[in-house]
Order: sequence, then C-alpha cells, then structure tokens
Amino acid sequence: MIIRKSYFWAIMVLGMLSASPASASINIFACEPEWGALAEEIGGDHVTVSVATTARQNAHHVSAKPSLLAKVRKADLVFCTGASLEIGWLPLLLRKAGGPDVQPETAGWLMASDYVDKLDVPDHVNRSMGHIHPEGNPHVHLNPHHILTVSEYLADRLAVIDPDHAADYGARLTAFQQRWTQTMEQWERNAGELKGAHVIVYHNGWSYLLDWLGMNAAAALEPKPGIPPTASHLEEVLRTVKAQNVQAILVAPHEDEKAAQWLSDQSGIPILHLPYTVGGNDKAQDLNGLFTETVRLLKGARS
Ligand SMILES: [Zn+2]
Repeated sequence: MIIRKSYFWAIMVLGMLSASPASASINIFACEPEWGALAEEIGGDHVTVSVATTARQNAHHVSAKPSLLAKVRKADLVFCTGASLEIGWLPLLLRKAGGPDVQPETAGWLMASDYVDKLDVPDHVNRSMGHIHPEGNPHVHLNPHHILTVSEYLADRLAVIDPDHAADYGARLTAFQQRWTQTMEQWERNAGELKGAHVIVYHNGWSYLLDWLGMNAAAALEPKPGIPPTASHLEEVLRTVKAQNVQAILVAPHEDEKAAQWLSDQSGIPILHLPYTVGGNDKAQDLNGLFTETVRLLKGARS
C-alpha cells in the first residue's frame, strides 16, 4: 500500500511537471554589449539576450548579416543606443525581420539615448561633411548615471512585455539600482584626482565618460566624427598636445591604432587601451567590471 501511494504521487508530480508549460523566456536583441549586460542584470532568468556586436566592432558600421536577421526575427524587445548610432543597419534588420511589436515607437523598441541628455548636439547638420552624430553624441553608455536611468525604462518595458513577471523585474531593478548607486559613489571618490585631466581621443566615443569624471578631450584624431585621421589634422593635433599637458591617448578595442601610435611616437604621450564596453578586456566582463576597470586604468595613466 505504501509503495502504491508513493507510486501514485510520483505519477502525479510527473504529470504536473509535464502539464506546466516551460516558463517562456523573453528574447532581447541588444545592439551593443553594454545593453546586453544591462538586460541580463534586470531580466535575470526570464530573458534570453542576443547581442549584435562585440567590443571589437564599431557599432556605427555593422553589416546586416543573416545571423542578425534571425536574432531580430525572434526578438520581443530591441534594446539599442539609438540617436543614429545603428542607422546603417538596424532599420534594415527591422524592416526585413522585425515583427510588428518591435518596430519604432512600440513597447518592444527601446533606445537608451532617448532617455538621457545628449552632448554635442549640432545646431546645423551637414551630412556632406560626413557627420555621423546628427542627433548629438550617441555614445551615452560610459556615464554610469545613464545606466541607472536606462535600467528603469528597461524594467518598465519588460513589465509591459511580460506582465506575469513584472514583480520580479521590479525587484531586480531595485537591487541593481541600490548596488549601482553605491558602487558609483566609490568610483567617483576613487576618480576624484582625474578631474581636469586632458586626454586625446580617436573618436568622440568617450565624451560622456570624460564629462562624468570632469576630464577633457584636448583633441580627437578624427577631424570630424566618422572621418579617418588625415596628415594635416594630425599635425594640428600634435601642435595642440605640445601646448597642453595631455595624459594619454585613449583607444577603444575597435579603433585603429595607427594614428594614435604616430601621435604617441611624436609626442611621447602614452596610448591607453580602455575596454570601452563590456568584453573590451578580460576584466570588463560585466557593467561593474567595465567601469571599475576604466577608472583603474585612467588612474594608472595619471600616476
Ligand atoms: Zn560615434
């Protein structure tokens, strides 16, 4: 009888397990690694995240290849930077493979740069001059306050798309924001000495980081965003760095180092490789690591 009873319960449990549908996971298509990492922080086990680019790719220039179409086709949420960063490839992917619920202005379309104040917003846009930042600087992720702001909008969207788990998203958001706020204060205390320091950048991808830390870009190696360095422009940058106390030349993993190397050879200013995004070096494997590592490396260049 005892044996029969446990057999009965085993059958019941098995039946219940097979009857309950596997908990459906929300598919998030993130354009850049930083938004993929944030989606995992807030979504936890309820989301499956596909990231379109790696730290070694320039998000301005990505080809809309079939593997990306397949990822967009499955997406319940498209989570990107916006402000024209992905203008060369994301609209094409959405047109070819995006469902009606992930098109612009729907709940399944979240552009981080829509929710933060942008820098370098031009008064006048002249595309013939090769301006690839027509709506202002899109590289908003390197100010951790922006990560905090965007996390809130992301949690709201997840709750709309997947209301069954709204409470979980809310709880994960609260925990993330508490952790992030504390760590951000540590970074800011730690980086106090960087205030006022000058660096050279290749592309204006660092503007929000420098703005956050009170640092300055003395010059960019690109004459205009998206235009490769020219000999005459580099000579001008060399004159600028000779007149100023410049700490380092910042280079991201996806950037060509040739011009930076030339300037470094001419001026003696060291090149500093920063991770730029999640996965940009072996210590920047999540958002926390990205900022901790960035502050550590910047401080190292100063000493
Ligand atoms: Zn750019």
